[in-house]
Amino acid sequence: MAPVEPSSTFRSLFGHDPQGRWQAPGRVNLIGEHTDYNDGLCLPVALDRRTVVAAAARDDGRLRVASLEVPGEVVEVDLAEVRPGHPQGWAAYVAGVLWALREAGMPVGGLDLVLTSDVPLGAGLSSSAALEASVAAAADGVFGLGLLADDAGRAVLADACRRAENEIADAPTGGMDQAISLRAREGHALLLDCRDGSVEHVPLELEQHGLDLLVIDTRAPHALVDGQYGARRRDCEEAARLLGVASLREVDPTGLDEALGRLEEERVRRRVRHVVTEIERVRRCADALRAGDLEEVGRLFCASHDSLRDDYEVSCPELDTAVTAALRAGALGARMTGGGFGGSAIALVRREALDVTVRTVRDDFAAAGMGEPAFLVLERAGGPAGPVHG
Ligand code: ADP
Ligand code: MG
Repeated sequence: MAPVEPSSTFRSLFGHDPQGRWQAPGRVNLIGEHTDYNDGLCLPVALDRRTVVAAAARDDGRLRVASLEVPGEVVEVDLAEVRPGHPQGWAAYVAGVLWALREAGMPVGGLDLVLTSDVPLGAGLSSSAALEASVAAAADGVFGLGLLADDAGRAVLADACRRAENEIADAPTGGMDQAISLRAREGHALLLDCRDGSVEHVPLELEQHGLDLLVIDTRAPHALVDGQYGARRRDCEEAARLLGVASLREVDPTGLDEALGRLEEERVRRRVRHVVTEIERVRRCADALRAGDLEEVGRLFCASHDSLRDDYEVSCPELDTAVTAALRAGALGARMTGGGFGGSAIALVRREALDVTVRTVRDDFAAAGMGEPAFLVLERAGGPAGPVHG
């Protein structure tokens, strides 16, 4: 649970009580990077870090929202005036969710909101989707939408969150972050098929195997909303067009070499090789988790990292240093997670080796003249967005 309680700030800012509080988790992706916009597979897991929002309805169609992470700012906007580029900044994620729900025909009106989060912002742990999903959950509760009641309804909320991020906040991300935040199951990873939105809950038995998932926030600047992400997406779309398929998901991994032979540009060939082999690694990772073969999971993490670094070229020195250090300290496997160019890495670590792994990563960062990384330990996969009781 987030460390600071938003309700008291709500009362002092708005002069009345919230109707309730709702929460939604951040995530790490175990494997399946840059596959979502290729209609592929990914395997995210919810963190036990979340965004909590206190909420109450207003009857004038306006949104007032404050974040304890952005002190001193209360953003006010008429919901009828929300559009791409308005409002600007962090409030776009919030207003965008209400806009998207209204676009989908939901009876969503004005809201007073105060939110807070212990998901680190901009660390590749999806604070943006945690923010969106918490607002979607609050709208569901306040306006009685009933969509949190089952997975089909949660998928509708997740889609509204994705539209908010893509269309109002102008961040061209796929649907993974929103899906895990709304559709997670505690103790499980979520095998998400981005082609049809279907999900499968795969047990993640860290505790039974004496393992932790160590998340290393490199604190290297990460900006997904820049040219690199768009360039990767364009390469993938162009390759799919050249190969005559709707998306790279349709490229059969057993026919990969033949497909690559039909692409002229070396860079594009490497992009395709990453996507096609990564989707296959997700399948194998889910199988390994079901079989309790965590050593194999570790090997797949390493193969994924190599592919992202060499073929997809989205790693950076901080991520590579984190991965190399964790492996040297004995991790079963390690990889960058999230979009790349900074953000976080994950390592599958034996519980007794946690301290030495943290120390090794910290020392290697210092030796390389890099800033101090931050650490977060996942002992058990978190649950999905919903009301906060009590
Ligand atoms: P990530 O999702 O990996 O944390 P993003 O760049 O996608 O990184 O999203 C981070 C942005 O989301 C922040 O810069 C801010 O605009 C917004 N955001 C997320 N959580 C909060 C919060 N609790 N308060 C205010 N803004 C937030
Ligand atoms: Mg994000």
